[in-house]
Amino acid sequence: MIGRRFMLKSMLLVGSVGIGSLYWQQRWRYIVIHHSAGAFGDIAFLQEVHRQRQAQDPIDAIPYHYVNGNGNGLGMGEIANDSRGELHIWGAHVSGNNTDRNFRGIGICLIGNYDVTTVPEPQYLALVGLTRTLMSRYAILPGNVAGHGRIAGEATRCPGKFFPMQRFMRDIS
Ligand SMILES: [Zn+2]
Repeated sequence: MIGRRFMLKSMLLVGSVGIGSLYWQQRWRYIVIHHSAGAFGDIAFLQEVHRQRQAQDPIDAIPYHYVNGNGNGLGMGEIANDSRGELHIWGAHVSGNNTDRNFRGIGICLIGNYDVTTVPEPQYLALVGLTRTLMSRYAILPGNVAGHGRIAGEATRCPGKFFPMQRFMRDIS
C-alpha cells in the first residue's frame, strides 16, 4: 500500500532531480502495461475504484497515466487520462517492490479482462501507437517497456494471460 514514506520518497526524488527542462525531458524512463480486469471502464469508473483501493493517495486521480478503451465505457481504442497523466504525476500502478517504475514509469491501462478474452485488434493497435509515441517522446528503450506481471517482484498476471506480449514487444521494437 502507499504510505507516507512512499510519498516522502517521491518528494525527495522530485526535489533532487529539480523541476527544470532537464527534468521534463527525462521525466519518464519506463512504460508499464496493465489491464483493468473488468469488462467495463471509463475515467469516472476507475476514479471510483481508486478512491476505494488507494484511499491514502493524496491525489484524487487514477493510478495510470493513460487508459485505452474497449468500447464499453470509453470508445474502442480511445485514449483518455485525467490529471495524473496531464500533470505528469507519479502513480502507484505497480507494487512497492518497484518504486522506480512508479516514480518514473508511465502506466497504461487497457480496459478489459485479458485473462478471460483476447485483446480487440483496434484497442491493441491503439496501444502500440500510444506506446511508440511515448517511447520516442521520452527516449524510452524497448527493454524498459513491460507488462506489469513481467516485472521482477510483481505477483500478478496483469495485463492478462491473453495479452499478446511477444507480438507487442515485436511491434514496439
Ligand atoms: Zn497491472
